[in-house]
Amino acid sequence: MPTIKVIGAGLAGCEAAYAAARLGVSVELYEMKPNKKTPAHRYDGLAELVCSNSLRSMQVYNAVGLLKEELVRFGSLIMEAARATAVPAGTALAVDRKRFSDYVTDKIKRHPLITLHEGVEITEIPTDGVTVVASGPLTSDALAEAILRTIGKETLYFYDAAAPIVDASGIDFEVAYYASRYGKGEGEDYVNCPMTKEQYDAFYDALIHAEEAKLHEFDTDQGGKEPRVFEGCMPVEVMARRGYDTLLFGPLKPVGLPDPKTGKEPYAVVQLRAENAERTMYNLVGFQTHLTFPEQRRVFRMIPGLAEAEFLRYGVMHRNTYLSSPGLLTESYSLAENENVFFAGQMTGVEGYVESAGSGLVAGVCAARRALGEEKLSFPHETMLGAMAHYVSHGTATAFQPMNANFGIIPPLEKKVKGGKAARNDAYAARALAAAESFAEIIFEKKQDI
Ligand SMILES: Cc1cc2nc3c(=O)[nH]c(=O)nc-3n(C[C@H](O)[C@H](O)[C@H](O)COP(=O)(O)OP(=O)(O)OC[C@H]3O[C@@H](n4cnc5c(N)ncnc54)[C@H](O)[C@@H]3O)c2cc1C
Repeated sequence: MPTIKVIGAGLAGCEAAYAAARLGVSVELYEMKPNKKTPAHRYDGLAELVCSNSLRSMQVYNAVGLLKEELVRFGSLIMEAARATAVPAGTALAVDRKRFSDYVTDKIKRHPLITLHEGVEITEIPTDGVTVVASGPLTSDALAEAILRTIGKETLYFYDAAAPIVDASGIDFEVAYYASRYGKGEGEDYVNCPMTKEQYDAFYDALIHAEEAKLHEFDTDQGGKEPRVFEGCMPVEVMARRGYDTLLFGPLKPVGLPDPKTGKEPYAVVQLRAENAERTMYNLVGFQTHLTFPEQRRVFRMIPGLAEAEFLRYGVMHRNTYLSSPGLLTESYSLAENENVFFAGQMTGVEGYVESAGSGLVAGVCAARRALGEEKLSFPHETMLGAMAHYVSHGTATAFQPMNANFGIIPPLEKKVKGGKAARNDAYAARALAAAESFAEIIFEKKQDI
């Protein structure tokens, strides 16, 4: 019988193993717990939620809500477990984390096509057959080194120091303007948000007093006080605290960026850089941050032009082993140069529990099809699952940053929808679910219901 190996029985690995087994492929699943645990894992069971117990919104007009609905259409184990172990959480899907892990562990252990090898740390990428590497953001050192040897130094990151990303449609162009410094580069690559001295003063004061997120011990040096980051990735609030002028000579310097409305350089300028070729998303240049998400929303919305901005992802700083996936991975999550080796989960550059499970499902299906000698298929780009796979494999390779599910990565609707953002997102969701249902029928027509 065709067999695949899966390394890591977290959210992505369990979903990949289960999806492949449902397609009739035998799976050897390796997990280093309980013998060895990453600094964030505590529980012996599989698919452990390392931090929050929330899988976020259930509403389908919310991007992660849509992703969950798609996963249900594809028979996701993680969604089945989440629904079976849900606890009341309003419009969010939160779970009892122990029951959730136990549910997944039990299903995996009882599946006749899955063999679980617990307590086994994999230290080399297998060279025979088809393998899915799903060892997560805290991949063990030995395996991380093996990955480095396979794919090369420039392609594996160990820290995520990301600036927030906003939806282009929320930027106020009555205030903001397109321009590259000294007129170099493409016209719409940069959006500039000009500040007067008064606006800068208010912003500066809010920034240096804003609340920072709690640090995990293993993300820190000096006994848990300072984030362990490279100088080039210094949080914007830390830079600001070095002095009133530091940002004015750093990421907020206005030189070479005259405002077309006045012809003069503003007192300060926040630059936004296009995050994708379609220019539907922009990141705040130099705004790596460790502020809490509500504080990012409050303080960064003080930036002129961003008062109504929608944050597609917030800035984060934490330890995170992930690949520079664009060009390195295909839309099936396999290496472009070795299509027998697949990656799944947070390490591919998707961000979040549900996103990790989603990439696991796609990788599991694609790996199983390869083991079965079946035709290679891409998940439809209209679906959040397909859009994430496309983003990861085709996003900007320079300074590639992990990404949550969001509507900015889905191809625009064919027709404009009236009724604002909610109506637009409903239309995205309806199109995505129709595509997911048709595709699930193709994929699982030979499904093994066990
Ligand atoms: C500290 C921290 C907090 C986070 N909090 C949240 C949050 O609150 N909400 C959210 O949505 N996302 C959060 N994330 C991001 C991410 O969604 C989770 O890390 C998620 O668990 C990733 O799923 P995964 O399957 O890729 O990795 P994991 O769930 O970490 O699974 C990887 C598995 O591989 C095993 N493993 C590692 N190396 C080896 C090896 N060499 N051999 C065998 N097994 C191995 C590990 O033991 C683990 O069981 C957090 C990440 C971190 C690091």
